[in-house]
Amino acid sequence: MMLKQKEGWIEVITGPMFAGKTEELLRRIKRLEYAKKNIVVFKPVIDNRYAEGEVVSHNKNRTKSVNIIKANDIFKYISKETEVIAIDEVQFLDEAVVKILDYLASRGKRVIVSGLDSDFRVEPFSFMPKLLAIAEFVTKLTAVCVVCGAPATKTQRIVDGKPAKYLDPIVLIGASESYEARCRHCHKVYRKPQNYKGII
Ligand SMILES: [Zn+2]
Repeated sequence: MMLKQKEGWIEVITGPMFAGKTEELLRRIKRLEYAKKNIVVFKPVIDNRYAEGEVVSHNKNRTKSVNIIKANDIFKYISKETEVIAIDEVQFLDEAVVKILDYLASRGKRVIVSGLDSDFRVEPFSFMPKLLAIAEFVTKLTAVCVVCGAPATKTQRIVDGKPAKYLDPIVLIGASESYEARCRHCHKVYRKPQNYKGII
């Protein structure tokens, strides 16, 4: 006889900025709300206030969320009855979130998170590779390249009208900066030349 299937897994929605990650997260949350599931939605905050917040997509869809500072704060807002844990912008939490989500999924919770897979240098974003590796389901969304219209998988950082330099700090004081979605070929970071340049 086969064992009864157990609940609990991790879903990650990832990709560059402007790919609709939050929109997809909200779509999944909405469906689970219709199904009357017990859901808690989290959002990391950079400042130090705990507050009721909202997750809002570019299309202005929204849902109520709990603002948290540390991954460990998740435990203050969930109980045995919680069936679904959702987190928007998960990449802004601390690395402890990886083990916490792994634990929660093993305890039968459905975990759904959205977050950037890479930074403006196209390097893996902090602990995200670990989360992607332990997730059961990964959805990698693409945006549209603002330069050529191809599917965009990278986030281009623009500082004072020019592509950001590789060594630019993550936070620049006094500079005007913005972000765009771009494909592999249109993305620029002025990186150091690689050893295998010119082989093919
Ligand atoms: Zn392009």
